[in-house]
Amino acid sequence: MVHRPLRLRLSRQALADNWRFFAARGGVETGAAIKADGYGLGARAVLDTLYAAGARDFFVATWSEAAALGELPEGARLAVLHGLGPDDGQAASASPARPVLCSLGQVRRWRAAFGERPCDVMVDSGMNRLGVGGDELDALEGLDIDTLHSHLACADDPAHPLNAAQRERFAAARARVRARRYSLANSAGILLGPDYAFDLTRPGIGLYGGAPAPGAEAFLSPVVTVETQVLQRRVVRAGEAIGYGATFVAERDTPVAILNIGYADGYPRNMSGQGHARWGGTLLPLLGRVSMDLVAADVTRADEVREGDWLGLDFDVDAIARASGISAYEVLTGLGSRFARDWTD
Ligand SMILES: *Cc1c(COP(=O)(O)O)cnc(C)c1O
Repeated sequence: MVHRPLRLRLSRQALADNWRFFAARGGVETGAAIKADGYGLGARAVLDTLYAAGARDFFVATWSEAAALGELPEGARLAVLHGLGPDDGQAASASPARPVLCSLGQVRRWRAAFGERPCDVMVDSGMNRLGVGGDELDALEGLDIDTLHSHLACADDPAHPLNAAQRERFAAARARVRARRYSLANSAGILLGPDYAFDLTRPGIGLYGGAPAPGAEAFLSPVVTVETQVLQRRVVRAGEAIGYGATFVAERDTPVAILNIGYADGYPRNMSGQGHARWGGTLLPLLGRVSMDLVAADVTRADEVREGDWLGLDFDVDAIARASGISAYEVLTGLGSRFARDWTD
């Protein structure tokens, strides 16, 4: 295998602990959203880890994501959140996954092609993104529905009035549509309390260590650690600049390590002048702009660092999100394809 000079260390223990946190909160069946390649970490490894922890229900967005998982372990169930599009028939017939049908057109298409096979259905309760409308529920009569879903728009803000309104509308749909299970809550929805849990929950972001709502980080374990190899060590002379735009000018002779990571790997360019590398317990400020493939770290306090050494990156998902002005979801799903993904524990 060709060597990769940057790697993610991913903790199975932390991932499983986070799932157990939500499982204990929900008090019902607890699934896992593993779309977007397990929020950037690797969907198959996430599935295997959470299956071992006890999860049985998994959610991807598309049929290609479902196919990429390969064969499922005994008793694992998979649902495809984007349902059955006009070009999905072949993939759906070859897959054990259920579609989450999310429009009347999809319902008709499913009936015509697959008749009696069990499916899931998404009902819209106020997000107006995907879902069969509250006034269209009669059209679901006769479907073999495993799980009836809806999705919360504002669960990260417990005070938002739409939360209770969506819960009410979903409860009304539940009274009208027969299904084996009912499911409303994502990570943040679980934190809204037991009224939102119904029979099955669908946590995503919190499993991967991102805080679903302000303050929730206290309960979750970090799953991702980022490490990058030193490509070069050099001394930038006083008065000289580093990187594009010459935004950092050294006030004194400064030893720097040039690191094998950049915004193409998902380390946000907005972290320029803000981020840190780590050498053991020592934080090393990043200097100048984050480029596509490289960034520079001040190694004054780690003078022994040399070419080939591995440095950590200070990579708290929520802190990066706050500092760079993007969401924790984008930080995780932006982690690029150049990383080796090494699972530990
Ligand atoms: C992505 C997604 C989830 C998981 O949401 P998080 O906010 O990451 O917990 C749950 N349900 C649906 C329908 C989703 O699309």
